[in-house]
Amino acid sequence: MREGGRPVWGGYLPGGGSAGCRGSRAAPCRRASPGRAASGASGGRATRAPTRETRRAWPARARSTSSPGTSPRPARAAARAPAAASSTNSELTPETFMPFIICSVDQLSEDTYQYTFELPENSRLGLSLGQHVVLRGLVNGLEVQRAYTPISPVNAEGYFEVLIKCYGAGLMSQYIKSWKEGDVVFWRGPFGGFPYVANKYGELFLLASGTGLAPMLPILKYITDNEDDETFVTLVGCFRTFENIYLKSRLQEQSQFWNIRTFYVLSQEHSLENLPWSFREKTHIGRINEDLIKSMMKTCRRQPFVLICGSVTFSEDMEKYLKAIGLGEESYFIF
Ligand SMILES: Cc1cc2nc3c(=O)[nH]c(=O)nc-3n(C[C@H](O)[C@H](O)[C@H](O)COP(=O)(O)OP(=O)(O)OC[C@H]3O[C@@H](n4cnc5c(N)ncnc54)[C@H](O)[C@@H]3O)c2cc1C
Repeated sequence: MREGGRPVWGGYLPGGGSAGCRGSRAAPCRRASPGRAASGASGGRATRAPTRETRRAWPARARSTSSPGTSPRPARAAARAPAAASSTNSELTPETFMPFIICSVDQLSEDTYQYTFELPENSRLGLSLGQHVVLRGLVNGLEVQRAYTPISPVNAEGYFEVLIKCYGAGLMSQYIKSWKEGDVVFWRGPFGGFPYVANKYGELFLLASGTGLAPMLPILKYITDNEDDETFVTLVGCFRTFENIYLKSRLQEQSQFWNIRTFYVLSQEHSLENLPWSFREKTHIGRINEDLIKSMMKTCRRQPFVLICGSVTFSEDMEKYLKAIGLGEESYFIF
């Protein structure tokens, strides 16, 4: 259960029962040596063949993963070895905290970090789409548990990634800010999730605010990795400023597929002129509201099913707007 603070993403209550730590019985963790991730020693990434993306990408647009103003793709991604033919799941379980080694720490903005964890022997974390894991932290002698949603593809082998915003007054945030490469931290899971089935929905309309982007990334990747999945996706990412748009290169890469389009809503930018050209045409300045959602939905190519992820306030606002537009509860899912 949560100690203090308010739920941030839709009322999280970690699974009941005793959540003991099995760290002492597990195989001792190796300290990650600097550069291990870059050398690819932590295992292969389940990448798709380059030709596949070229085939699926909208022909009129050139492939670019490093548009002006976007953060470059981490070198380790390119350096990883090709995926092994088959892979087992990691030792992650819902009941017991298991140790995982941090193999890289990347600061994405003033207060948000991307952490990559090593998985032994090319294993997969074992999550399905939209699922989250629970982190255990000790802050001033107090045990704290909080939920985080991996952003890595569900079939990622040898690693998993989380995107975490740290709050000045946040309990777990204090612990997370102390993390460095080679540290061992304890996770249990998986929990929750969105039961996605390819081609079930004509179009997915993803409304994400800040780190609420997290569950949307594996969903996008899952769809674009499957040539037989013809679901259209409209992602609307709400951030404070252009600098605060997380993982721009990943988002830009995904938006080049014929069935994916991305929009941004930036509440604290003042002018589109400050943005790179590649973002101007798909960015709205201001706060997302009923009219904006309505106008974006009008351009959907099929009847959309909506996924919402962000703070409690964001989710409540989005639900209110969707209801006002006339969507029933069967037409959306809140993480
Ligand atoms: C299912 C689920 C998945 C989640 N996935 C992620 C994820 O992938 N990445 C991620 O970063 N977070 C995620 N969260 C939120 C995360 O679990 C924590 O709530 C968050 O990290 C804050 O925890 P804390 O202990 O640092 O802050 P707390 O100690 O819980 O909060 C203390 C104080 O911090 C400040 N604070 C905390 N949250 C906010 C906020 N949203 N806005 C403004 N001030 C705030 C407030 O002053 C608050 O009173 C998820 C939550 C759920 C329920």
